[in-house]
Formats: sequence, structure tokens, C-alpha cells
Amino acid sequence: MKQLWAPWRLAFIEQASHGSGCIFCEKPARKRDGQSFILRRSRHAYVLMNIYPYSNGHLLIAPYRHIASLEKLPEPVLLDMLQLVQRSLKAIGKAYSPEGFNIGVNQGRAAGAGIEHHIHLHVVPRWGADTNFMPILGETRVLPQHLEASYTRLKAAFGEKRTTAARPRRKRATRRSRQR
Ligand SMILES: [Zn+2]
Repeated sequence: MKQLWAPWRLAFIEQASHGSGCIFCEKPARKRDGQSFILRRSRHAYVLMNIYPYSNGHLLIAPYRHIASLEKLPEPVLLDMLQLVQRSLKAIGKAYSPEGFNIGVNQGRAAGAGIEHHIHLHVVPRWGADTNFMPILGETRVLPQHLEASYTRLKAAFGEKRTTAARPRRKRATRRSRQR
């Protein structure tokens, strides 16, 4: 519960990312979010597109820190990641109108983690007659739709929503005006 954000961490991450081969460290350090398909950053974590998605809108949420397992994540990082999950759900909903979502973690190689040393959450939109959850997170399938187009679409969906976290309840202006 102490303050966990320290600027030296950033330097460490940047240093560690050189030749570390960890994409979850390298991508945010590169600071070219468009090219890295990073959609949103927050204090401790960020959202990026899975470039080997199971479906359109398959997003990954990772902490900046190179931490391998969920139980080692400091509380603020954990909270930050879950808030990014919420935002991702909203943005994907807006961009793709899925019928459901799978949200999960593959921890460890045996569980199907592609990159096992840097924890990341998957948010996978689902439609109707998809297969079940378990095979999904271990599998990668490239879809024909251009990643660029998906990025633009999702980026807009993230941006539109504006982070009005202080708002107690979401109100839709359109709905309200319709009621009158
Ligand atoms: Zn890493």
C-alpha cells in the first residue's frame, strides 16, 4: 500500500528492455504507441492490442514492471490493471459490440503463457457460437483484418469515452433527451 511508483523504475525498465527480449517491457519503453499498438497508458500499466489475436479486439493489459506472477503484483498495480480491464471492456464494446468477453491470465508455461516472465491479462471479445474459454488464451491465430484498422477503431473507442471516473453514474445524453 506504499507509494510504488518511483522514477528509477522507469530507468530500470528502459535499461532492462534493451536486449531483454521482453515485449511487454520493450513496447512501452519505445514510446511509439501507434507502432506498438498501445491503446492506453495509465500510471502502472497499459493496454495494447494482441498482434496475434484470437478475435478482433483481443487486448492485453500489462504492468510496466517486469513481474512474472499475479500474486507478486503490488496492490496499486493490480488495481490499475483491473481499471484498464474495465476501460477495455467499454472500448471493445463500443468498437465491436461483442456478445460476451473472456478475461483471464495464463500464468506459467504449462498454462499456455506465450511470455511467461511478464504477467498480462487477456480481454477477449466473444460472439455467439465461439468455442469455450480454455483453448483461447493458449492459442494465437492471426486474423486477416488489418491490425492498423483495428487500432484506429479501438483508439477512437478509448478516446471517446473520456475518463470521467468521478462520475457516480453513467448517463447517456441521447437516452435522456429521448425520454423527454
Ligand atoms: Zn518484461
